[in-house]
Amino acid sequence: MPEHACKALVLHCLDFRFRKSLSEFLSSRFKEGYDLVSAAGGVKLLIADPPDGNFLLEQIRISDELHKPEVFLLIQHEDCGAYGGSKAFGDYQKELELQKSELEKAENLLKQQFSQSIEKYLIRLSGEIVSL
Ligand SMILES: [Zn+2]
Repeated sequence: MPEHACKALVLHCLDFRFRKSLSEFLSSRFKEGYDLVSAAGGVKLLIADPPDGNFLLEQIRISDELHKPEVFLLIQHEDCGAYGGSKAFGDYQKELELQKSELEKAENLLKQQFSQSIEKYLIRLSGEIVSL
């Protein structure tokens, strides 16, 4: 066991509008805290950038080595500016499908390199958190 292990690694967008809801959701579940990687677009650059020198992949690897999280939580959100916002999709169903597909790509990529279980979510502007 590493010197200080944590229960979870969370990857989500930097968007401030979701911070309060996410923080409540995550801190009630992981009372002792969690590692957080926060970057514009959430998983977007993780799957878009090549594996070599992939900044987000590197952050996840560091978390894995230092803290051995038991689970990875990938959280995308509604109206993400990195995807052109909700207006780029036309309707919520299309946006949900795209984000679901982004999350699945990220899950497949991470499964090739890590053994942790992976949970996927979309958080809505209302604060509702949808498990995908
Ligand atoms: Zn965003």
